[in-house]
Amino acid sequence: MKLLIRQATLVTVNADDEVLEQADVAISDDQIVGVGSAPAGFVPDRVLEGDDRIVLPGLINTHTHLSMTLMRNYADDLAFWPWLLERIKPLEDHLLPEDVRVGARLGIAELIRGGTTCFHDMYFHLDQVADEVANAGVRARLCGALFDNSGRGEALLRAAVELHEHWDGKAGRRVTVGLAPHSAYLCSPDYLREILAEAKRLHCGLHIHVAETEREVAESRERLGLTPVQQLAELGCFGVPTVAAHGIYVDAADCRLLREGGVSVAHNPGSNLKLANGIAPVQMLLEQGVNVSLGTDGAASNNNLNMFEEMHLAALLQKWLRRDAEALPARQVLRMATIRGAEALGLDSQIGSLEVGKQADLIIVDAARPHLAPRHDPVALLVYSAQAADVCTVLVDGQVLMEDRVLLTLDEDSLLALATEQTHGLLHRAHGR
Ligand SMILES: [Zn+2]
Repeated sequence: MKLLIRQATLVTVNADDEVLEQADVAISDDQIVGVGSAPAGFVPDRVLEGDDRIVLPGLINTHTHLSMTLMRNYADDLAFWPWLLERIKPLEDHLLPEDVRVGARLGIAELIRGGTTCFHDMYFHLDQVADEVANAGVRARLCGALFDNSGRGEALLRAAVELHEHWDGKAGRRVTVGLAPHSAYLCSPDYLREILAEAKRLHCGLHIHVAETEREVAESRERLGLTPVQQLAELGCFGVPTVAAHGIYVDAADCRLLREGGVSVAHNPGSNLKLANGIAPVQMLLEQGVNVSLGTDGAASNNNLNMFEEMHLAALLQKWLRRDAEALPARQVLRMATIRGAEALGLDSQIGSLEVGKQADLIIVDAARPHLAPRHDPVALLVYSAQAADVCTVLVDGQVLMEDRVLLTLDEDSLLALATEQTHGLLHRAHGR
């Protein structure tokens, strides 16, 4: 299948952050074969007109718990610990595989609608999520959540390793699998060592919450005399590719360890603000040479999976944090949502920018809207003015998953009814009513 997107504005996010006007994108099967113009002799089977449209790489959500969509607006306006321990955990204890499946399907529909083509998940029953990813056509790195504070450590690790055996590299290589020790506070040092050994054996990366709250860091210092970053570095966790979600309370010494370990920090500004956890020092991390990507966290603490909102928040927060309106400019933020996310997942040779030879994971924004006119700077438009609902068309591996705002791989009407019904069942089991 040869597809041509004709005469659009291309925000390439290549090494030079090139923006091309009235330019074409040529796609052959799953790959981009022309950016700017089609290669000689290219005869498309399909043409998408690009008038008033902006084409950019698909957004990459590097930290989420996708199936928590079922808990959206279930526990709000609460501090982190009561939110987690008194409201979310008791519900999660009653989750069935089918809940995880339906929550994932709902989440994937929301991701596609908002222009996210790849997500990095941490949860349970991920074989269900993998199936949904395979069916819906998106891309994902799935990491089984691991903790041993409840006696379930070995069973969780076994399931996570099995997921790797069954799903890594599957669904046309759109699914890859890592391991997700929840955090240094819910995993004992011995358990972390065991997880690390498995990650090395499987040649996969780690996905972990790090320095999300002030209390986490204070307790770690009190218990061990080390920050969570120092503890993880000392255990050797950074010997494998690691994505550290949050990284709010990190100091200069932590930054050095993150850089030396090649650790990427997934910044989740919406969740961090809503739970009043704080603002990650993104500009400092970037200046210190740490790769920083972007994520939404779960929909129970955000309460959506809208990467446009995260881009907007990320830029604004750094400006205030640094008391500097020049901090974290739009170009940097867009890189965090695309190519830096691909780097975090070790997929930057395959996705994250519009370049010849990369997989055709791209999105089209309909810019013929009052809040997007006039068009002085397409990158600023995307970061400061665009909304998730402005995404009209989404492709992953060259397959059109949404065209002119119609989802092609999911039945949205039945999905919404199913999600409501599934949530009622979950609440019934948890509360006995
Ligand atoms: Zn999280």
